[in-house]
Formats: sequence, structure tokens, C-alpha cells
Amino acid sequence: MKEGVLEVLRCPDCGSSSLKLNKENTNHLEIRSGKLICPVCAAEYLIEDGIIDFLHNASKGVLAERKAMDEDDYIIDDSGNKFKITDEVIQRFRNKFLVFPEGDGSAFFKRGGSFQSTAEASGRFYSAMEDLQLTGKERILEIGACFSYASFKFAQKGSSVVALDISNYLKVSSLYVEKAYFERVFSDMHKMPFVDNSFDIVFGSAVLHHSKNLKAVFAEIKRVLRAGGKLVLINEAARGILERIHPVYKKMEDKGFGDTAYTLLEWKQGAKAGGFKKVKIILLSFANDLITKNKNRGGKLTFIIRLAYFFKKHHRLEKFLLWFIILPRFLTRPKSWKLICYKNAED
Ligand SMILES: [Zn+2]
Repeated sequence: MKEGVLEVLRCPDCGSSSLKLNKENTNHLEIRSGKLICPVCAAEYLIEDGIIDFLHNASKGVLAERKAMDEDDYIIDDSGNKFKITDEVIQRFRNKFLVFPEGDGSAFFKRGGSFQSTAEASGRFYSAMEDLQLTGKERILEIGACFSYASFKFAQKGSSVVALDISNYLKVSSLYVEKAYFERVFSDMHKMPFVDNSFDIVFGSAVLHHSKNLKAVFAEIKRVLRAGGKLVLINEAARGILERIHPVYKKMEDKGFGDTAYTLLEWKQGAKAGGFKKVKIILLSFANDLITKNKNRGGKLTFIIRLAYFFKKHHRLEKFLLWFIILPRFLTRPKSWKLICYKNAED
């Protein structure tokens, strides 16, 4: 962390915004270790590896999910060896993390590789980022930042960014901040350590479906957004209204993960219940997804891929045709979609 972030921080326990900083180790970039102390309720928040840990009073669900993530053998190398994300593993695979999300064409990003899904969703990320039209003046909060490559991309544009997550995956951020600086905190997204109206944009990729209480998490996001700001969510799981809940959710839950399969209607209701008046659900292009996947899988030009390129070139025509399958997508499987919530001055 850098001292400047204190401006937006508050004690998540009592709400006091006068946290006192106790530095221990500082490097050329930031405060690497130390603690923040709340003068009102005496809570102490450790700083380690430059990340501020606001999880000391976290809920059972959050702690179970953090543990499940730490115990997951996330990385599988070319020879099939499995690794948990530790400091040593982060250094060993640093060159892979630095080429997120699209990857470097190596096995990690290809079919069956640990980062395949990240690489194949990279088209969605870049298109969402383009839509943000960052000028470098924004204050951005990324929730569920995971390795935090999105925060890194935003920071490279010059925006001032905070990455938030519950898992130790966030430690990968140490690789990124050397190149473009941003702040990192461990925190529950239902109870965030930020003062009201702190951010212009809250961004999340595949994170809010980990919440069991959409109303609470949307309300919390709205609190930290400034008037005129917006929340942008991509890659959220969504189930068609007629679709049965996939058994994978039960498996995940048994492991301690909090993934939930909400329908688009439940998403919208959650955002509205959390206090957002203007909520937009956007069903995204199939062509973009197909092209990104195809590039990652060798780029063979089949009829479907040629068609996808045609629609990418004539995106208005694709938009028009997609309009006819809005209802089927709501009913069966929405696939790629995006949620945008706007906070207005009167909200
Ligand atoms: Zn306090």
C-alpha cells in the first residue's frame, strides 16, 4: 500500500475513517508490511506483501471460501504437475501471469490448461475495457480481482485502482505493481473498507455469483460508488429461467465455494433491491466469443468462424439478429452477458 490510499479507507468494523498507519517495511514502491489501527474500536489490520488484510472478522462463508481457494491445486504445468498458489509458485510462473489474460500461446492457456478459460474470455474483458473508455482520471475498484490482471490493465491506463479479493491469489499482484501501481486489499465485498462515494467505477468479472445475498452486496457497491459512477459486471454465471441448476454448483458448495446460479431476473431484482434504479442487462455478441476461442484453438477457418468474422465486421447486423433470440436466451442459457448499474445523484 501507499499512504495515499488512506484517503478512501475506513474501518469495516466501526466505520471510522481515521485509521492510523504503523509502517514496518517499505520498499522502493510501497509499504510492504505493517498495520493499520482503528483509533475508535482498536481493530488492527495487518499489511503483508503490500496487501491490507481486512478479513480478520470475516464471516464463516467467506473464510470457508478463502480456505477452499487456498487448497485448490490451481496450476497444472505442461507435464501435469499440480501446484497451489504459493509465493514460490507465483515466482516460478511469473512470465505466465504477466501475459494475462490472453496468454502467450503456451499449454497453460490452451485446451485443458489452467488458464484456458481466462484466455478464452479475454475478448470479453478487452471489449468491456474498451467500453469503459478510460481516460486515466478514474478511481476504479475491482472486486473479486483474483490475480488482479484487470486492475493491472486499468492501472496501465493511468487510472487509480484498488483490487479487492478474499483469496491469496491476490498475492500475484506483487508482479504487476512493479510495472503499473495499484492498491490491494483482502476484504469481504459485502462489507468493504472504503468511505462512501469513493469510486467512479466498480468492476467485477465472475465475482458476484459468489454472494448468497445479492441485495446486500449491490447496496454495498452502491455505497462506495460516487454519484454518476457505475458498476460493470462481466462473466457472471447466469442460468436460464427454464434451466435446471447444474450439478457442478452442488460440488462446488461441498468444497466450500459459494457459487450460486442466479437467473437474469434474479440478477436484476438483486441490483434493484440493493438500491440501483438504472440497471442494464446486455446480452453480448456470440461472434466475439467464437473468434477469441478459435484463435486460442489454432484458428482453423470453419464456416462458423467465417460467419463470426462476418458478423464482427457487420456488428449492427449481428445485434439485430441477436434481438430475435433475447427471449430464448433468457429462458435457456444467456451465455455471455454484462450487467451495468448506474448510480445517479438522486439515488
Ligand atoms: Zn474501527
